[in-house]
Amino acid sequence: MAFEGLSNRLQNVFGKLRGKGKVSEEDVNEAMREVRLALLEADVNFKVVKDFIAKVKERAIGLEMAKSFTPGMVVVDIVNKELTELMGGTQSKLAKANKPPTVILMAGLQGAGKTTSSAKLAKMLQKSNHKPLLVAADIYRPAAIKQLQVLGEQIGVPVFTLGDQTSPVEIARSGLQHARDNGLDYVILDTAGRLHIDEALMDELRQVHEVTQPDEVLLVVDAMTGQEAVNVAQSFHSQLELTGVVLTKLDGDTRGGAALSVKAVTGCPIKFVATGEKIEPLEPFHPERMASRILGMGDMLSLIEKAQSSIDADKAAEMERKMRTAEFTFDDFLEQMEQVRKLGPLDQLMDMMPGMGKMKEMKNLKVDEKQINRVEAIVRSMNKDEKRKPEILNHSRRKRIAAGSGTTVADVNRLIKQFDDMRKMMKQFSSMMGPKGPKGGMK
Ligand code: GDP
Repeated sequence: MAFEGLSNRLQNVFGKLRGKGKVSEEDVNEAMREVRLALLEADVNFKVVKDFIAKVKERAIGLEMAKSFTPGMVVVDIVNKELTELMGGTQSKLAKANKPPTVILMAGLQGAGKTTSSAKLAKMLQKSNHKPLLVAADIYRPAAIKQLQVLGEQIGVPVFTLGDQTSPVEIARSGLQHARDNGLDYVILDTAGRLHIDEALMDELRQVHEVTQPDEVLLVVDAMTGQEAVNVAQSFHSQLELTGVVLTKLDGDTRGGAALSVKAVTGCPIKFVATGEKIEPLEPFHPERMASRILGMGDMLSLIEKAQSSIDADKAAEMERKMRTAEFTFDDFLEQMEQVRKLGPLDQLMDMMPGMGKMKEMKNLKVDEKQINRVEAIVRSMNKDEKRKPEILNHSRRKRIAAGSGTTVADVNRLIKQFDDMRKMMKQFSSMMGPKGPKGGMK
């Protein structure tokens, strides 16, 4: 995961502090020396690191540590707040035009992920019931237009193009008109990238800017390039007023330097982050959540939001009812597993839970997707009656299921035992709760 190295190092530093009953000034200084090294190693801009450490020290030493019950936690809290501040404090939302369409100009160097991010942004808007239009204004990179068309088709968003013989300025102008004529409320301009920043590119972007008067100018930068991403952002920002940054490839093992330095160096906030090559909705960037994720305090809010958007509320309510009444069958079990799976790869989910990132590192907890596949195969090899009445699963049935699912009888036995235990627990729980809440009456 991105930030893994930084996250582990910071957690070690604070682990030591947390254990102390008293924290002296020397302890704080020592911890800050380590934090400084960790940040530099994560490729955070050196000036940013210097300012950051100075701010944390000032706040930490000013406090009367000895009087606090949890001095270590106080320091972690200060670092958490300062990290959040460093990344912009609060979430920077996407601008909205007073009169639609809202125009978003996407800029960036070739390969940063501009075309991919444009499609992800369109998907995000579409998900919140908007009608975006993608405009193919990159006429230089071979196949860029085709790439956008393919992505647009994949997500069901219209793509406006005039081929590669018309100027980007004209394409942008006509695209905007097309959106107005067709009642589309967001226009995403996928402009040309270059291998390096050059005058011709900037000129073209300025002209497109002039005719379209965008509400947002988002620069797409590749997090994997670390400080280089920050330099690119600074150059673009000095020539073309950016309104925000989209940081891509955060799925890779980026050390995190770009995410932590962009705002402080350029003054321009990160508005979105992108992970993966698949076209999923672009994720809004939340500085406070990112900070607590780096510090291993988990990102429960993102997890909950993810759950809310991927899990069917009616199904969840039905499941909850079944659990209460202990009517839970293997079918429900499978369905519940599928719902959890929709949330995404399990190890990514683990990273969002407090303390879990650390546990994974200690190898106490290995998330094994294969194991889950095996469980799924076993349940799928059961027939209807068996799923509903697990008690009929005798040895010959278990043997058949093992053969059908490519597992062993031991695997099947283990799963049935787990399921039985779970049902027993639910029965106990529901009898304890009774039909009207806890027995013994809390009310
Ligand atoms: P453009 O030249 O800036 O338009 O870049 P593209 O959108 O064509 O992306 C360049 C490459 O990076 C493609 O292979 C994309 O699939 C890949 N890519 C884009 N965004 C991400 C991301 O967030 N994560 C990963 N892993 N790959 C990405």
